[in-house]
Order: sequence, then C-alpha cells, then structure tokens
Amino acid sequence: MTGALVAWFEENQRDLPWRRTYDPYHVWISEVMLQQTQVETVLPYYARFLKEFPTLEALAIADEPKVLGLWAGLGYYSRARNLMAAAREIAARHGGRVPSDYDALIALPGVGRYMAGAILSIAFNKPYPIVDGNVRRVLSRIFGWTDENPKALWEAATRLAQSAEPRLVNQALMELGATVCSFKSPRCMVCPLQGECVAFKTGMQDRIPPAKKRPAAVHVRLCAIVQGTNGRYLMKCADGLWEFPMFAELPAGAFNEVGSCRHTITHHRISVTVYAGSLAQQNGYAWKEFENVPVSSLTRKIRGQASP
Ligand code: SF4
Repeated sequence: MTGALVAWFEENQRDLPWRRTYDPYHVWISEVMLQQTQVETVLPYYARFLKEFPTLEALAIADEPKVLGLWAGLGYYSRARNLMAAAREIAARHGGRVPSDYDALIALPGVGRYMAGAILSIAFNKPYPIVDGNVRRVLSRIFGWTDENPKALWEAATRLAQSAEPRLVNQALMELGATVCSFKSPRCMVCPLQGECVAFKTGMQDRIPPAKKRPAAVHVRLCAIVQGTNGRYLMKCADGLWEFPMFAELPAGAFNEVGSCRHTITHHRISVTVYAGSLAQQNGYAWKEFENVPVSSLTRKIRGQASP
C-alpha cells in the first residue's frame, strides 16, 4: 500500500514552498501555520514569516509584537506565542537546533503528538505517525471504520510510518486526503488506494468517517467604540494584540452607530455593532497608530466599518 501511495505522491504532489526543504525549522513553522488553516491562506504568511525570521535563532530573540503582527489574520494566536516560547527554549536548551527526539519535542510549548510526529517524520524521516483530519478520513475509508476509533487510527498510522520513507508516506496520506479523498466528493477513480479501500468497495464513502459532533454555535453580541483620527486610535492590548474598546452593552459616552460586522472564531459567532465617538471612561486605554500595532482580523474589520 505504501509503495503505490508514495509513487502517487511523487507524481502528483502540489508544489508547496515548505516541500522544497526538510529543514526542521521550516517544517515546524509550516506545520504550525497549517493547523486549522487552509494551504492557500498560509502561503503568503509562511513567506513573510521566514523572510523576517529566517532562522530559529532570529525567532528566539524576536519581539512578541513583531511576531504577532506577522501572524495577524491567521488567527489562533496561541500558536504564535507557543512558537516564540518554544524557539526560546530550543535556543536555551538544545543549542538552537530543533530536537530530533520525541520526548524533547513533546516537552516544548505547543507541541503535541501530531506536531512531534510531523517534525520527526517530515524533517528527520523517522518512523513516527501523524493523524490529522485528512489522514483520519483516508484511513477510516480504507479500513471501513464506521465508528470513531482514535486508538486504531493512530495504530494504523504508526504501522504505515514504519516504512523506508516515513516522510513520504505521511505527506502522501495528507496530500491524498487534501486533493483526492475529499470529504464530500472523493475522486476514487484516480485514487492509488482504490483497490484496497473498503469504503470504495462498499460504496460507503459518504458515511465514513462518521461526522464529528460539533459544539453548538455560541452567538455573541458586542459593541465596539472607535475613537480616533489620522490613524491613531484609543485601544487596549489583550494577549499581545491591540483592540478597540469592546463591551457587551454600550457604555457611557457620546456615540454614533457607523456600521456592523460579523466574525467567527471556532464555534463563536460574533456580531459587532460599531460606534464612533468618545468614551467617558478611558482608563486602561492608550493611543496607538493602527498600522504599527498587531491587530486581529476582527479589529481590522471593525476599523473598516468606522473608516471605510
Ligand atoms: S478509493 Fe476513494 S474513498 Fe477510498 S481512499 Fe481513495 S479516494 Fe478515498
């Protein structure tokens, strides 16, 4: 099975910048960015990030606002904070080299079983498994698992990674899931694993893997106050990112409603009514040049409503 899979991968893989090197630092950055984020979204961020921080040493001494600024728009900012913390730890404890040892990797901030497996297999070609959403879908269909079975999934991925080229097998599984064995319309007729796929043979692709139960959407309504001119605004820093004053209820002050926007973070659906005006109580806020501080996509959307 791995032979056909790897042959298919070598012929059909997308040309992605992080596939042009096995440098552990580059592999690590790409894998962190690709968590919860589409490839097309990651491409420009990956290029900008590595241009600014071409080495782990450069990231280890970076200022947090600069790193968060380069991350702005990618979301899940804890990923960037963990990257910085891990880079500092690697610089301090591992001589600036990404560890090639599972126990050392898993001890780093933000590195879990998936990330350790991705770094060890892709960068170091070591036989460690990885299971992401794509791998879960491909393996569940091949083995015909109609029930959720994480243990069997990791065991199967572990067996497959025991090949001569774990880096190719693991990347091939992910690539197959991303480009052929898609959730809604798998292209079984061009799949290299068609001959051994239980879901294909039984026509159960639409029932495998079982749908994951998503948490119910939580709706949040907020008011944002945009106060400022000429690019400078009253803002406050929350977890390294600067944001406009945000409230559940309109606070004291003189405001005009200027627009509204929506934003989704995981299962939170956020509706923001945007006001321009002057906040009566300004303690805890500072005047900031909007373009010179790291902000989230939501904050950028809010400013777009106040000054389109
Ligand atoms: S044959 Fe179809 S369902 Fe099976 S792994 Fe290939 S694309 Fe997925």
